[in-house]
Amino acid sequence: LGRKLNAALSSLNRASVVDEKVLDALLKEVCAALLETDVNVKLVASLRQKVKSKVKTALEGGADKGKEVNRKNIVQKAIFDELVGLVDPGVEPYKPKKGQPNVIMAVGLQGNGKTTTCTKLAVYYQKRGFKSCIVCADTFRAGAFDQTRQSATKAKVAYFGSYTETDPVAIAAQGVAKFKKERFEVIIVDTSGRHKQEAELFEEMVQIGEAVKPNMTVMILDASIGQAAEAQARAFKDSADFGAIIVTKMDGHAKGGGAISAVAATKTPIIFLGVGEHLYDLEKFTPQPFISKLLGLGDVQGLMEHIQDLAHQNPDKQKEMAKKLEEGKLSIRDWREQIQNVMNMGPLSKITSMIPGLPQELLQGSDEEAGGRMKRMIYITDSMTAAELDSDGSPFMDFGKDGKPVGLTWRVTRVARGSGTSVREVEELLCQYRMMANMAKQAGGKDGWLQAAKKMQ
Ligand code: GDP
Ligand code: MG
Repeated sequence: LGRKLNAALSSLNRASVVDEKVLDALLKEVCAALLETDVNVKLVASLRQKVKSKVKTALEGGADKGKEVNRKNIVQKAIFDELVGLVDPGVEPYKPKKGQPNVIMAVGLQGNGKTTTCTKLAVYYQKRGFKSCIVCADTFRAGAFDQTRQSATKAKVAYFGSYTETDPVAIAAQGVAKFKKERFEVIIVDTSGRHKQEAELFEEMVQIGEAVKPNMTVMILDASIGQAAEAQARAFKDSADFGAIIVTKMDGHAKGGGAISAVAATKTPIIFLGVGEHLYDLEKFTPQPFISKLLGLGDVQGLMEHIQDLAHQNPDKQKEMAKKLEEGKLSIRDWREQIQNVMNMGPLSKITSMIPGLPQELLQGSDEEAGGRMKRMIYITDSMTAAELDSDGSPFMDFGKDGKPVGLTWRVTRVARGSGTSVREVEELLCQYRMMANMAKQAGGKDGWLQAAKKMQ
């Protein structure tokens, strides 16, 4: 999906005029990409209408004065906003609070990834300083408690369950009471799923819900079931009024569009994505960065979280970096350090899409190929002086009387020679750095979404 949308937007950038024909062609491509990933037809049609009328209103209001660039921006922003609208129902999910018990109940059909996700969630919160645990209230599936025991042990989180008790409601109540007494802060209740939506399952969920009074019920949805996700979410919503969705199996060939439709149908926000079978394969979900990443614009917030996760390796350094990123004051040197960090974090293909300003071409091919391209970027910066590295790129530019850049300085040639690359490559690197710095600035400032996202935590 990302690649298709990205291509569609690039074709917009190449167009010399933006008229109704160009807009229609672009919307056709965007809609086709959405339909292909199983987004509901009605949603796609309404997105198309909304973008068209938004663009029309803006242009009639004279917002395009003179410049084709402005028209492109208007179109791009309209599409971006509507895509964000698709995954953002405008409802705040529950946020666990420190120093009190927060009970989270997971529901969903068997095989959707509940048990796996419960462990991932416990690890996620544990890493962020919440005392976390899991209660296994699945007495339906043979070996369910063993599965919880094994994964919780591996993840080093506390767990509760029983081999003998057959009443899931009793186990849930006992487990939650025990962990509350022991002052656990995040208590995750894993439930049974069964194979289909049946009366007994919904009855059981209602009873467990009444017994443990969850602060948040999370529906675990499997991305790979496509269009069926919407109907499944609707069916669950009636008896287990979940307040959040986690979409699993977004790795591989998953078509997330069905899950996106489920968000719209149930007006419930997605809070995490499951992106693999391992403990750490859980990505926080926030609408704007998600769409931004989808369109190839990078994910500054995801990058920041990664930086925070690395914090234990070099706390002071990383804190300083996060602060700079937040303030939009990243120098070329800082950027290079980030790229080096990324190279050490591997596997590259997972992380690089988070770095804003890294163009799609850089990420194409195998991890080795992408790594090779990144190494060239490091060589180029190795040929810069200390002052150049600490700059925001301005020593490489000649500025006109109006303060706008008019060309490149001799420094670019020097760096190209020194690094055994070409002027073009150096120019490209500077261009990518600028894009990244601008993104960071937009995201970081007082009114940026990075601040908004932080406030929500
Ligand atoms: P449950 O029946 O809902 O508790 O589902 P499980 O947690 O037992 O998961 C069912 C299968 O899905 C297991 O093989 C998991 O490893 C796999 N799984 C869960 N989440 C993900 C994910 O995000 N990505 C991938 N690839 N597999 C997942
Ligand atoms: Mg399970």
